[in-house]
Amino acid sequence: NGVIGVLQLQGDFAEHEAMLKSLGAKVRGVRSLEDLESVDALVLPGGESTTIAKLLVALQMMPRLKQRIVEQGMPVFGTCAGCILMANELVDYPEQPRIGCMDISVRRNAYGAQIDSFECEVASDVQQFQEGPPLRAILIRAPEIMAFNKGAVKLLAHRGERAVLVQQGHMLATTFHPEITTDSRIHAYFLQMVSEALDAQKQG
Ligand code: GLN
Repeated sequence: NGVIGVLQLQGDFAEHEAMLKSLGAKVRGVRSLEDLESVDALVLPGGESTTIAKLLVALQMMPRLKQRIVEQGMPVFGTCAGCILMANELVDYPEQPRIGCMDISVRRNAYGAQIDSFECEVASDVQQFQEGPPLRAILIRAPEIMAFNKGAVKLLAHRGERAVLVQQGHMLATTFHPEITTDSRIHAYFLQMVSEALDAQKQG
């Protein structure tokens, strides 16, 4: 329950919407400040973070978006470009406009030209992700989470020494693209976060 918004400015929002709907979620596209007010949670898709940020600034959505996430605890899930938009620190592009809500340090396009895109297995200690086949990550000109605040941010999946899926309270971010696979466990995990956040808001 709750309406899950998917930011529809640029990128692979349609894949996110299809996956959320397959899990029974009520989904609404978000293209304006007004749309933003009608959702209980938000997915920031993969795409081009500079383009998405430019549009968010032009539509004057940035301050309200940050306020809803940081001050009002709106659950948010960012994949790839979405993860870049959420990072408090952006190595190499410190001035790039972004929401900046999560205690992670991210490097864009971290995997170099010859391996622009690839797929690999990632490891996780989270029970839902250990049940069934191993999590696989599709990385497309992916960013890398170089560091995170270990007191606040929980590591949910990693590839070698690098974090690829992290959670900070009501915020979830990944460098890969679960929305273009048939594995909906990470979206289901996010929907669980959303219902917990909405329950807590009702009680508070
Ligand atoms: N390289 C893109 C960026 O910097 C992210 C790629 C993606 O979302 N697949 O925004």
